[in-house]
Amino acid sequence: MSGMEREHDQLATALQHAGKQHRVGRGVISAVEQAVTFTVESPDDIPVYQRLSNTGNHREVNAVVAALEAAPAAFVTNSGMAAMHLVLSEHLKPGDHVICHSRCYGSTRGLLDRVFVPLGISVSYCETPEFLANARDNTAVVLLESITNPFCVPEDIAAVASEFRGRDAVVVVDNTFASPVNCQPYALGADYVVESATKYMNGHSDLIAGAVAATAERVEALTSRAMYLGCSLSTEGCNRLLRGLRTLSVRMQAHNASGLEFAEAMASFPEVETVFYGVSASRTKQAVPGFGGYGGMVCLRFAPEISLERMMPLLKRVLDVPSLGGTETTACLPLHTTHKWTSPEVCREQGVDASILRVSMGLERCDDIVADFRQALDNLHKL
Ligand code: PLP
Repeated sequence: MSGMEREHDQLATALQHAGKQHRVGRGVISAVEQAVTFTVESPDDIPVYQRLSNTGNHREVNAVVAALEAAPAAFVTNSGMAAMHLVLSEHLKPGDHVICHSRCYGSTRGLLDRVFVPLGISVSYCETPEFLANARDNTAVVLLESITNPFCVPEDIAAVASEFRGRDAVVVVDNTFASPVNCQPYALGADYVVESATKYMNGHSDLIAGAVAATAERVEALTSRAMYLGCSLSTEGCNRLLRGLRTLSVRMQAHNASGLEFAEAMASFPEVETVFYGVSASRTKQAVPGFGGYGGMVCLRFAPEISLERMMPLLKRVLDVPSLGGTETTACLPLHTTHKWTSPEVCREQGVDASILRVSMGLERCDDIVADFRQALDNLHKL
């Protein structure tokens, strides 16, 4: 058994058993605690209230996420953006400076530019090799994604974390594209791991949720802050996320295999100019440290004469939607979805244009998805 297989195996067991001590009821899975609030033994006890994230359902899912992230503690929120907001608001005050990867998710950039910059916070956007050169005395947060969106570039998190060790800034990693099965940024030295649990972690396209993993002390501080920000996940959401998490390890192994197979198959299409998958920013074939796989996200640059807007409706199996990480294969044009609110200058700078397609490989047979693209392109040529 390879090292990677062993890790998956250990995770697979942890996923079934972590958080058991918080299980609600006598069922094989927890009952959903529907009540908004619960009676307590004595007036000195902290009230149990869903917004305080202190029900058994919250405790169970938080324990499972912490085990997955190899972190001391974790906290779930009602969206990935809420998780990001929670962490940033904990660490940013007027006058502070943020270093953010220039290719981060469009709404993360929007959160910084539209919410934090007007509060007197400044942001430098750059690529990871330029992070340190952009550091200032007032840099409070360093923000990157383990696999950047939409070009699916895995980043060397341990290198960034070690550059900023001993400084006052916290390193925050959005791990959504990789998932904690493929990458554990906390173990690589990040201070916070943020996830859109809407994607791979839940994996069934039926829940908006987020998660943060960090030290117990930091998670406790975030839990109190969340009470005021109102970004807690409902108990129903906690249980739905738990159901998704139980299969995360096997789903990610399937996504890793089909992502790679799809990337290789699409590289031979004459209409495809470049396939972006699991290749470092320097585009060397060297494995990026800290990854057990690169998941099912594949980015394609098509030849300029291919109109993706006309090709997309010709796909029969692949759904044209902006989300990712589900059991079904989906695809979207980042220009019209994830980067819809990003300025044209920034899109140009990042190379996000109408020739870029982002595909999220689901659990179908890869050949069927490749054949769907082949027939769509063949039919496009006939139009
Ligand atoms: N981070 C990344 C990389 C994303 O792709 C997304 C959503 O697409 C988010 C964060 C935000 O997640 P959510 O939609 O759960 O708020």
